[in-house]
Amino acid sequence: MSRNQALFERACKTIPGGVNSPVRAFGSVGGTPRFIARAQGAHIWDADGQRYIDYIGSWGPMIVGHAHPDVLQAVQAAMADGFSFGAPTEGEVLIAEEIAKLVPSIEQVRLVSSGTEATMSALRLARGFTGRDRIVKFEGCYHGHADSLLVKAGSGLLTFGNPTSAGVPADVAHHTTVLAYNDVAQLEEAFASFGDEIAAVIVEPVAGNMNLVPGTPVFLQALRELTARHGAVLIFDEVMSGFRVALGGAQARYGITPDLTCLGKVIGGGMPAAAFGGRADIMQRISPLGPVYQAGTLSGNPLAVAAGLATLRLIQTDGFYERLGTATTRLVEGLAAAAREAGVPFASASVGGMFGIYFSDQAPACFADVQHSDTARFNAFFHAMLDAGVYFAPSAYEAGFVSSAHDDALIDETIAHARSAFAALAR
Ligand code: PLP
Repeated sequence: MSRNQALFERACKTIPGGVNSPVRAFGSVGGTPRFIARAQGAHIWDADGQRYIDYIGSWGPMIVGHAHPDVLQAVQAAMADGFSFGAPTEGEVLIAEEIAKLVPSIEQVRLVSSGTEATMSALRLARGFTGRDRIVKFEGCYHGHADSLLVKAGSGLLTFGNPTSAGVPADVAHHTTVLAYNDVAQLEEAFASFGDEIAAVIVEPVAGNMNLVPGTPVFLQALRELTARHGAVLIFDEVMSGFRVALGGAQARYGITPDLTCLGKVIGGGMPAAAFGGRADIMQRISPLGPVYQAGTLSGNPLAVAAGLATLRLIQTDGFYERLGTATTRLVEGLAAAAREAGVPFASASVGGMFGIYFSDQAPACFADVQHSDTARFNAFFHAMLDAGVYFAPSAYEAGFVSSAHDDALIDETIAHARSAFAALAR
């Protein structure tokens, strides 16, 4: 028996489903999850010593590759001074200043430890600020697992065919209105009928939790105008797209200024750090200045801040996003060409360092489109690539991620393996 298999069997005895986050379980693709022993650059190694080119990158954070020497050194230096103090540190000031510099809509920012905390806190703040309860989200967008947001959410929940979690009280879900992504007419209708009840609209401006579906400029612009007109708070959930689709996130790419922004993943460089921030008049409503409570024992943890700061410095090097975007385009175009050669219906898309692959003729524009992807074909492709040493997300509903450590040779190697995988699918 492989070590992966043995570890999975042991894990299942003491950890529900053998994993600490559902999509890791290979539930929808079948087979045994790989237990990762170490990672370096664009590669990960499993418990059996098998090496893979990694296109998950810890689901987004590892934008400069794994164990980058600068990040490693920053964390080691911070670690030598102690792990956590529960008191303010200079590093928190530095990272707050860095975030505000890179994302100009963020005048003030608070650090938390996960994307879920960031979105949950941003919602509470928006409700406290407006004095309203209703929130609007979009089908297929995932914003972490706070109760109000587990309504028709994406990826992990879609993978398990259960868009609304058990355990969410109906009274809580009742305050969440779910609309179709990229549907301006429906949005206008919703604001016309209950716009003045809406505390916040939360959106992934580039959705990465129903595979990859970029928001259209007209949709995002309509969101900005309607929320402003009705006194609702516009929250961009850039936990995934932040520092990923552009240095200033999706808001810089689209030229839209949200009221609040949620960040995570890249700002922790692989350590548990996330943040929410935005307009100072809203942010000043949180405790200790205002009446909206929000707190965290490990918030602004010194090791996470050190990893985040080192990562934020690396992504500001000249040409970083041009190179990342070019590498990601090379990958998705190469995959699409390989599928075409084999006659397999396939589409792909990318925004900055994020990409999506779909086993259908057209890239999707909303959640309903995503469901046209041929998941049986995706699963066969996933396993063929895994066997060849390429680690894509184990779900047809997840976006993929490229890092600055993915050079042309690795991308071309990936495409060569895909050529064989597509040929086998076409047979
Ligand atoms: N928001 C978005 C857009 C995400 O993609 C995720 C996680 O994938 C979250 C929020 C939740 O972040 P976390 O898993 O750190 O709680």
